[in-house]
Amino acid sequence: METQKIPDSFELGPIRPPSEAYSLLIRTTINCPWNRCKFCHIYKGEKFQLRTVADIKQDILAAKTIQDKIKEVAWKSGHPERVAEAATMVLNNPPSQAYFNVALWLYAGGESAFLQDANSLIMRTHELAEVIRFMKQTLPSIKRITSYARSKTAAKKKLDELIELHKAGLSRLHIGLESGYDRLLQYMDKGTTAADHIKGGRNIVESGISLCEYVLLGLGGKQMWREHATETARVLSEINPDFIRVRTLTIKKGMPLYDEVENGNFIRATDEETVEEEKLLIENLNCHSYFVSDHTTNLLQEIEGKLPEDKGKMLATISRFQSLPPEERTNFIVGRRVGIYTCLDDLHDLHKHDVAEQTVKRIRQDNDQGDEKTVYALMERFI
Ligand code: SF4
Repeated sequence: METQKIPDSFELGPIRPPSEAYSLLIRTTINCPWNRCKFCHIYKGEKFQLRTVADIKQDILAAKTIQDKIKEVAWKSGHPERVAEAATMVLNNPPSQAYFNVALWLYAGGESAFLQDANSLIMRTHELAEVIRFMKQTLPSIKRITSYARSKTAAKKKLDELIELHKAGLSRLHIGLESGYDRLLQYMDKGTTAADHIKGGRNIVESGISLCEYVLLGLGGKQMWREHATETARVLSEINPDFIRVRTLTIKKGMPLYDEVENGNFIRATDEETVEEEKLLIENLNCHSYFVSDHTTNLLQEIEGKLPEDKGKMLATISRFQSLPPEERTNFIVGRRVGIYTCLDDLHDLHKHDVAEQTVKRIRQDNDQGDEKTVYALMERFI
């Protein structure tokens, strides 16, 4: 019988959540079925496609082929247990992105997989469940399977369907909540309402699938920041997700929001205003979620903790920043945005402080854009 040759290459999408950096990436759909959010550039100009279950399975088999080849290197060296070492060799000189991804995944233990792209939940439930089951059978080291989803889609799924996915092995869904304020969601063309967020989020929590909600700090700009903070806190409190992760708005050409800024319809909040917004958000959260702000776009990445018990500690970090003299706040903001500082404690490092001070001086001498625009330009390097 002729056996079909399994290729050693598979589809890879453009993004995954920061927490899935070491996950095997399997593309169950291509691009975003909504693709209209004003603050998002990732899939603009690209057409959404569902993939067939057969094609996805083929990619899982291709990942297994690469995995087996890397394991074979360890085996042939006489140390089959040294898979991480064999994976490091591949990482140093990967023949393709697919090899790189599998090697990184094996290096980290081979336990997590992330289903790309923007909304895997849009697949027919029984097909997605079949893909998840196949993945677990084919790559039994995988213990945790996660994916992105839209609230609107999660709100439309029946609870039984989400339970079916959880039973198949779907461990966690990452949802871009962005905001809980309806006017802002509408202005940003998010295609989701606060009610959708709550229904979708609660469905997921009830199904047993772990839920991570992403909030976009600064999304309200100067006009809607208060309502953005309080309504987002209200919606999150009603959902009570396992995780709340914040990241800060960055704007680049290609996003519809870029044009809104250019024509004066959207006025960006400064870093200091965004910190005030984050304070209001945290103050109003009434849930038992774990709050994380480790995204590189966030000014205060050290704000982290379990709610409600760590709320005081998180707010104290904000108050520590806000109590700094104005020149020190500018020093910290510029230092963070050029990558000198990672946290407020770095202000005590005299060398770092001096470098940040020189940078502030140079910015003021060299450009006519003003501090704010320079800081925005520095932030945009991260996207
Ligand atoms: S739903 Fe997500 S991926 Fe799609 S356009 Fe909006 S932010 Fe971008």
